[in-house]
Amino acid sequence: MNQTIYCDHAATTHLKEEVRDFMNQYEQDSYGNPSSLHPIGKKAKDLLIQARQICADCLQASPDELHFTSGGTESIHLALFGAIKANPKKKKIISSPIEHSAVYNTLKYLESKDYQIHWLKPNAEGQISSEELSEALDDNTALVTLMSANNEMGALQKVGEIAQICRTHEILFHTDAVQAAGKIPVDLSEAKVDLLSISGHKFYGPKGTGLLYKRKESKVARLSFGGNQEGGFRSGTENVLGWLGLAKALSLACSKLSQESQRLQEMQSVLMSALANLPAFVLNGPSKLEERLPGNLNYSIRGVSGDQAVLQMAFRGICVSSGSACSEGKIDPSRVILALNPSEPWRAGSSIRISLGALNHADQLDRILAALKSLVR
Ligand code: PLP
Repeated sequence: MNQTIYCDHAATTHLKEEVRDFMNQYEQDSYGNPSSLHPIGKKAKDLLIQARQICADCLQASPDELHFTSGGTESIHLALFGAIKANPKKKKIISSPIEHSAVYNTLKYLESKDYQIHWLKPNAEGQISSEELSEALDDNTALVTLMSANNEMGALQKVGEIAQICRTHEILFHTDAVQAAGKIPVDLSEAKVDLLSISGHKFYGPKGTGLLYKRKESKVARLSFGGNQEGGFRSGTENVLGWLGLAKALSLACSKLSQESQRLQEMQSVLMSALANLPAFVLNGPSKLEERLPGNLNYSIRGVSGDQAVLQMAFRGICVSSGSACSEGKIDPSRVILALNPSEPWRAGSSIRISLGALNHADQLDRILAALKSLVR
């Protein structure tokens, strides 16, 4: 019996053994409430300081600019709602239609509540134009929110350039780096970002853990009131063990980043070259490897629906996904693929994502390719 091959690392990742061992090591010592004055509380507080310092070192940020959360969605909500709350007179937000639903649906909600959302159109490969962003900025703009890397078709945005434009215009910039962190370099001492969201389960850390970077000088209001944890920005008793796990996973990912991304790109390149010879497979997103997330492949397959393809791949023991995992179970075509190819709507209903990661090895590629080829036989 062939073993299952997991190619859905963009949906989520397993907890790495080193991360599990690290968490086990601290399980007994981390249960205290960091706000308690006694030694058990003090121990938990020290571990939390340690976790924050590890993350700060990985991201080149100051520890007091990092706020732990319950995941990417919460980080994004704190960023978006916090930014507009701090700037109540400004009613315009600039973003794009290819954002993850954690951003997209929040903006749709705000659009129904008096906010003007300026949706920047991506080009056919999923990139947002810096020139169009510059033209859209005005005095009424409260926030720009654009993702660092797309979760479906892997397009990387020019975050450094976008951040610089926003800083020059003194407009807050948030980037959803949930797919980027741990896979491509994220250096906050370089990028002029105000807010950045991260999620632990995308880089082999525990689920239900996240991080929000908020630059010290950025004007962003707090949303939650309570015990004033996380620098007063996110109240609630801290998930010390989970956040230690996130910190360990992030440091592991950052220390092996260039090695691992090269390994993933090599496999990605083998699959892309083989599929380029099959006319039924149409690549979505950037054609250049360096403009895609390492390990991400996304194809529309002529004559096959995305959901059908996912089920047939699963039947052959290969786990892939059609579009975003968060929309799995629904048969809506992918709005991301549609935004890239509005004149070819079939592509949005026939797309599959293969996201390679730590569980993949070169010797699995033949089986993955054979399964893909069988979809159009
Ligand atoms: N943003 C992106 C780009 C994502 O891929 C995801 C998860 O798939 C999220 C945000 C939401 O993160 P979380 O699942 O941690 O809430």
